[in-house]
Amino acid sequence: MTASPPITPEVLPIPRKPPEAARLNLVGLTRPQLRAALVAAGTPEAQAKMRENQLWQWIYHKGVRSFDAMTNLAKDYRALLAGHFTIELPEMVARTVSADGTRKYLVRIAGGHEVEVVYIPEDGRGTLCISSQVGCTLTCTFCHTGTQRLVRNLTAAEIVGQIMLARDDLGEWPAQGRAPKDETRLISNLVLMGMGEPLYNFDAVRDAMKIAMDNEGISLSRRRITLSTSGIVPEIARAGTEIGCMLAVSLHATTDELRNQLVPINRKYPLTQLLDALRAYPKLSNSERITFEYVMLKGVNDSDADARRLVRLIAGIPAKINLIPFNEWPGAPYQRSAWERIEAFADIVHKAGYASPIRTPRGEDIMAACGQLKSATERARKSRFEIAAEAGLPQPERVVRRPDAPDLH
Ligand code: SAH
Ligand code: SF4
Repeated sequence: MTASPPITPEVLPIPRKPPEAARLNLVGLTRPQLRAALVAAGTPEAQAKMRENQLWQWIYHKGVRSFDAMTNLAKDYRALLAGHFTIELPEMVARTVSADGTRKYLVRIAGGHEVEVVYIPEDGRGTLCISSQVGCTLTCTFCHTGTQRLVRNLTAAEIVGQIMLARDDLGEWPAQGRAPKDETRLISNLVLMGMGEPLYNFDAVRDAMKIAMDNEGISLSRRRITLSTSGIVPEIARAGTEIGCMLAVSLHATTDELRNQLVPINRKYPLTQLLDALRAYPKLSNSERITFEYVMLKGVNDSDADARRLVRLIAGIPAKINLIPFNEWPGAPYQRSAWERIEAFADIVHKAGYASPIRTPRGEDIMAACGQLKSATERARKSRFEIAAEAGLPQPERVVRRPDAPDLH
């Protein structure tokens, strides 16, 4: 333990309620967990592997939610399954569609907490951005999610469930008799870039991603799944060996001094440690580059000198730099860099040999863009004053509210 102040001083963890139903939810179980559950419920050992595959196909290939519909299983066996198990997803409580086609889903999980999921259609692909936690224990000063105080880890079922709910909404389940390979995949890519720090919920994220990658699961290639982390150094190697998906790292600053302010976990895992862990990332090669995310904050991290320092810092790492124009949210203590500034920055990075795409903000009109996510029902938000104080910025002017003014949050 060090004597430095805690990085996440004011988080109120939400206790997980014990499951009410006696029946076990099959969604989100790993293969060994499912097999063990089937055997415990009376499936003969010799059949368990076959039953496991059949159930996965019904649940993840076909989107079936009732044991009765599983027509290649004997009636008695279906009844046995229904007596012991459920197939349950979180509840989709709202759906908003942006003028640009982006869809934002509000998803309610056990206990009444909510997370957001965003679907971004683009030419030739569709990306689903999923959440790993309600809120986030980290307090990056430019991120709306980081202002939410209540935090709870999602279960593997709740993480896979987000993908399944989006497939429901998009009508993506294959028609009867069609093989998964013949499907139109509206969701072709998956990014863990919604609410939460995925590496602080490692086991559930790993189990959910294994289901997403499995050929009998959601069947997405591991190269089409990207996990974004703020830099939880001890878990980075594990992400490579135990999940094996693509990695994105929220860098955002090129000196420890600035990164300590923007991404406070940097005080625990500073830049040299982070970059060493990335150089050792098991999957790293020219064909599997690391994505560095870099949010463009006006006058804060967007100078030519920052761009040059960035390319020196990551020298030797096969990488792509994703420049994210800052997305504003109510009370945010930063502004988006001017477009010409972002382009000048991108140019320096590009000339140094790195792809440097500028991420077009999507779904801003529905607050679905990066860093804008936060449960609408979440009331315990930090004030503008607390945010400014954490960012080391001057205090905003206080606005005196009329006693009859409506409460906007
Ligand atoms: N917790 C993980 C993943 C979720 S955030 C992480 O931090 O990497 C997904 C990306 O959006 C991160 O790169 C994050 O830094 C960025 N982001 C957060 N707030 C933002 C904002 N207001 N504007 C633009 N990007 C933002
Ligand atoms: Fe958490 Fe990522 Fe937001 Fe930082 S940027 S507060 S790690 S969700």
